[in-house]
Amino acid sequence: MLLDATSATKELVEGILPEQGVPSLRIGMQKMESVLNYYVNKAEEGLPVVGYHFSFPAEYLKCFDCVPVCIEGTSYFLATFLEGGSEKYYDMMHSYGHPFHTCTSQKGTMGMTLDDLFKFDSLISPTAPCDCTIASYPFFKYEKKFPLVLIDMPYLQEEKSYQYYADQLKAGLIKLGKIIGQDPDYNKLKEAIEIENQVLKLKLEIFEMIKSKPSPISNLYNAISAGLTMFTAGTLENLNFHQEMLKVVKNRYKNKKHHGGEEKIRSIWPYMITFFSIDLMEWLDWELGLSVLFDIFNYNFFDPINTKSDLDSMFYGMSKKSMGLPMVRQSTEFFGPFIEYCINFAKDYSADCFIYTQSIACKQFGSVPQLLREALRDEVGIPMLLIEFDAGDARMTSLKSFKEKISMFTQTLS
Ligand code: SF4
Repeated sequence: MLLDATSATKELVEGILPEQGVPSLRIGMQKMESVLNYYVNKAEEGLPVVGYHFSFPAEYLKCFDCVPVCIEGTSYFLATFLEGGSEKYYDMMHSYGHPFHTCTSQKGTMGMTLDDLFKFDSLISPTAPCDCTIASYPFFKYEKKFPLVLIDMPYLQEEKSYQYYADQLKAGLIKLGKIIGQDPDYNKLKEAIEIENQVLKLKLEIFEMIKSKPSPISNLYNAISAGLTMFTAGTLENLNFHQEMLKVVKNRYKNKKHHGGEEKIRSIWPYMITFFSIDLMEWLDWELGLSVLFDIFNYNFFDPINTKSDLDSMFYGMSKKSMGLPMVRQSTEFFGPFIEYCINFAKDYSADCFIYTQSIACKQFGSVPQLLREALRDEVGIPMLLIEFDAGDARMTSLKSFKEKISMFTQTLS
């Protein structure tokens, strides 16, 4: 399904859009198709299929000969590219008895698994970032009888936590290896991590250029970059995508070109975008001249992982990276740092406003918006629009409603 959706979107993009239209989508779909093709062939050859939570970096699974499937990425990728999205599968899970207010990022793939579209040889997930994750993954173990490896992630960001989680990660990979009958190949793991260290450099270079006016990225770049990293981290395709995007972005930066023609408003989305309809991003670029400078999946960076000394140092770096990933970082630390770096982003990136999407699933973040809104008003003098939604289900807050709310909000900015 993923491969078909990707190939169909790629054909559409190549057939309909002009050569230079939305390069992130064009290049991204090519890379995604190449990786999915590879994995579909490997699955047909009988390699074990391993489901992983998005906060377990995909490159860590490169130590095995396996077919990795991102549980949350699958739900939202299909929500984005299929007509009707993953809604059928959310409803299937609701009928099964799973609560309506849980996260659709898991619920879609759970429904597909209930429908026997997936047969996992094993799954692996940290005990983060939220209650929805913890309450959803046991479904795979108890209802479908798939072995589940849970890695205990501590809350506090401090030395002993990093060390503890490094040990957990190593033990988790060894346990997963026993289930699928393989020993972790640490050389392959090292190679994949080194690829992601290079991707990090490219992303940071792009992130720095976003400070300029107009923003040299298209709004869609954020979604495509995040999606590719979630599915294809540790592959040359992910590296090539970001290399090619850097060239595009540099060119726009030098020529002060905006993807939508004219940048009128610069916005930061500190949480999620609308995965049920990422075409909203294009509409904002072109119709409102509103740049989405970045969302939650595109402003969390990590220290490059040291692969040159011993294995323990490498796992320590892997642990630190994992504990700082999007949503993990926000959901496990106190609100103070989040508000502080949002204020700094607003200043450093000359934002005119924030648009905060509050998901019905993310209970742990429900009390933050008002605090952030007050802080942005008092410290930076910019407003924040709050929209309640479900990131993967258009039936809660529709695309039409999003457009109306944002259009009205932008009329108040002048
Ligand atoms: S933090 Fe929110 S969006 Fe992320 S997995 Fe949990 S409930 Fe879903």
